[in-house]
Amino acid sequence: MPEDGKVAKFGGACVSNPEMYDRMAAILKSDPGRKSVVVSAVAGVTDSLVQTIARPREEKEIDQYIADLRKRHVALLPASPEDRGRATEALDALLTKLERLLYGIAYTEEITARIRDFVLSFGERLSAQVVVANLRSRGIEAEAFEADQIGLMTDENYGNATALLEDTRDHMAPILRRQAAAGHVAVVTGFFGLSPEGKTATFGRGGSDYSAAVVAHALGLRTVEIWKDVGGFMSADPKIVPEAFPLSVLSYDEAAELSYFGAKVLHPRAVQPARACGASLYLKNVYRPGDAGTRIGPDTVDKSGDVKSVSYVRDLATLKVYATGLGSDEVLLSRSSTALADAAVNIYSAATSQTCVAFLIESDAVNRAKKALSRADHLALEKVEATPHASLVCFVGEGIGHAHGIAARVFRAVADRGIGVQFITAGASMVACQFTVDTKDLEDALRAVHREFFGDGGKRHGSASAAVPSASAPLP
Ligand code: ASP
Ligand code: MG
Repeated sequence: MPEDGKVAKFGGACVSNPEMYDRMAAILKSDPGRKSVVVSAVAGVTDSLVQTIARPREEKEIDQYIADLRKRHVALLPASPEDRGRATEALDALLTKLERLLYGIAYTEEITARIRDFVLSFGERLSAQVVVANLRSRGIEAEAFEADQIGLMTDENYGNATALLEDTRDHMAPILRRQAAAGHVAVVTGFFGLSPEGKTATFGRGGSDYSAAVVAHALGLRTVEIWKDVGGFMSADPKIVPEAFPLSVLSYDEAAELSYFGAKVLHPRAVQPARACGASLYLKNVYRPGDAGTRIGPDTVDKSGDVKSVSYVRDLATLKVYATGLGSDEVLLSRSSTALADAAVNIYSAATSQTCVAFLIESDAVNRAKKALSRADHLALEKVEATPHASLVCFVGEGIGHAHGIAARVFRAVADRGIGVQFITAGASMVACQFTVDTKDLEDALRAVHREFFGDGGKRHGSASAAVPSASAPLP
């Protein structure tokens, strides 16, 4: 049975200045059930690590980078000498390790997926120390834990690892329970865990959300709060669709599909551990802690067949692979998708015919994809054609797979704007449907789809559903 208590995850923007530490401390003090905190790296730090290892660096550059990183984090430490002193020591120990690692990369001019993950994990390690110092100076007993040190176990898929939930529970739960029982807050690094061979493995960008759900699973908690400096899910990106309104609930599948297809508010796989233990994810805004935010849980499935939200992915390309003499379309599909997967090309969608398979992939992966296909064994390629400038539109809603006429309404709305639809995927998921348009038409298409289902004022028409309130709905 799930226990009471909450995991509270704070994203990069929420761990990056003293005002945010005030907010975080107030949030933790207002509910003693929030004993497990998961943190992201300070805003921009993971990006800087990614850039630093993008090419081999001179020693001078490394020294400068480490000095900048130190300055950035030390500047965030509280004034009280005791908290500051302890944290500075911890930061320096981490920075020394990171510096050696970067020197190693510079000398060998070699970087493996493992080393890359280890380097990228330092953002969270540094941020956990800064957060702990700030919580202590605000009267909260807190201690930092590095997820790989306390047994957040993963597989060996470096860069996009998956947590081993049962192993993690065995290792991590006793440690975190002891903290909670002592009334202390555990500040756990997000984004990574420990692979079976004892190396750090990350969950992919934005992976701290996933970590938070893994911690909740380990502790059997029913609430995961994802604190951000913006609200939760909306009916569309408000930067493109001004009438977009916040959503108070989504199902696991709706949230997963929207996240996979472009909505940036949640890591696409964060729902998996939550679903496995029946926990709800609450997307909350630190500026409005009293707002309910978006809840994603086991009981938030509204199968009315209404469209709930529309998301998008920009800058994709269609890759058409033609081959002869392979015997069947399945062989072509399986061989070419294996070649693409081996080259770490993310496939958003695929469609087949007897002689051709079309893939929707990221446009900056086109060259890598072509190379991988041309090198693949047993793939008698005739030609590979890439069409760039595709962007994907995804609309989701539980039950739209069964509802009558939804797709027709979408495509009519888009066609009425004179926009051509290129690639349609329906049926892979019963809650989501995707199509692509030329990137120049993307924003127009998003507005047309949103208007079709929600009208001009951001109000939905069609059947009223308690599950999807308008922006002005009162707070529960
Ligand atoms: N710091 C990591 C990233 O920027 C993980 C996270 O923020 O969730 O991707
Ligand atoms: Mg981050």
